[in-house]
Amino acid sequence: MHDDKSQTFDLHCYGCGESVPVSSPTFTCSGCGAPLSLRSRAVPDSALFSHPPRSQWSYADLLPITDPNAVVSLDEGATPHIESTRLAERYGFDTVSLKLEAANPTGSFKDRQVSVGISRARELGKETVAVVSSGNVACAASAYAARAGMRSILLTHGFAAPNKIAQAAAYGGTAVSVETPSALAVFDLCIEACEQFGWYHLSTSGMHEPYNVEGAKTIAYELYQQTGGRLPDWIVIPVGGGGLLGGVWRGLLDLQRFRLIDRLPRLVGVQASGCAPLQEAIDNSLPFAESIAEPWANPDTIAGGIADDILFDGHTAIPAIRETNGLAISVSDDEIIAGELELAQSDGILPEPSCAVVIAALRHLPEEARGQSVTAIISGTGIKDLPVLDGHVASAHRIAPSLDQLKEVTFRETD
Ligand SMILES: [Zn+2]
Repeated sequence: MHDDKSQTFDLHCYGCGESVPVSSPTFTCSGCGAPLSLRSRAVPDSALFSHPPRSQWSYADLLPITDPNAVVSLDEGATPHIESTRLAERYGFDTVSLKLEAANPTGSFKDRQVSVGISRARELGKETVAVVSSGNVACAASAYAARAGMRSILLTHGFAAPNKIAQAAAYGGTAVSVETPSALAVFDLCIEACEQFGWYHLSTSGMHEPYNVEGAKTIAYELYQQTGGRLPDWIVIPVGGGGLLGGVWRGLLDLQRFRLIDRLPRLVGVQASGCAPLQEAIDNSLPFAESIAEPWANPDTIAGGIADDILFDGHTAIPAIRETNGLAISVSDDEIIAGELELAQSDGILPEPSCAVVIAALRHLPEEARGQSVTAIISGTGIKDLPVLDGHVASAHRIAPSLDQLKEVTFRETD
């Protein structure tokens, strides 16, 4: 299969509905000024959804890369989907399931997006990629660049967890910490550098580079297959820039267009209350352009991976909530730590703070959701950010090699 994707993709505006050929020189809608998104026009062979995917590239016909030799992959995707009977019982849902994106090669869902984005870079003949990142994108970009034999420049700002920077540097990328509180200022620097130096801009920001957020839609395809076509009533998704939420929504729209589903789950976007521009946009009925006009002032949360001061994918994330009759909610840092430990101790899965928000959000779902089915997207692993748990988990008991002392410390807690 080697279809020219310029024939099967267009650039679509979710603001006004306009579509233009994928060869358009600009990613901005001439009608309303919103960013354009890629949209597959292909209707896949029905056999595609009848076998479990081997990786997200099992859906290659629905991804915007034409040349199979350009694909850079570590077999990302095809992540586990498991049920949590404890969480379902605790919160009164019919079922709660968890899509374990932390199982991706570098530990977060960003591998899906970066795999597609860097394949685009290779298709364009680029040799260097550059990203703006709070950590997970830097890890993915550095790893996939190593895999591709390319160079990666990783521009980070104040919210990057030190462990993530170390992980990213280990793959060989060049990490650069930019001294400014403004993510937008770092974006401006990265974009200017890409233009000047011929680098590919690999940031997972759909408003800048629609190719770089395509991978997230394959999560929806996998959920369709892993639920036997019976998608949940609700999907709860962490939101930073909104690319995960917008991507899952666009994947669901594909499934609807393929006539595989006739209704969409209601989508819930969850942010930290110290940085909640999606909730602000939904509560105040702001259109996308207004939502980015005033960045969130002074983002303040331990969930650094979602502390984006604007919605870089608000052009899809905002309609994802509105058009599915969904919800935007936010949770406090205390709730985030509690959610992280709750999932670790209920099911043995340690999420990072940036996605522990979805566990914290379960108690905030409306009454009508009780008795219904819920899927939570666990987008990244807590192993990336262990210092955040300092003071919240017990330290080891210190004993001599003595049975009495072992009995003392182990029976004391459970008696
Ligand atoms: Zn438009």
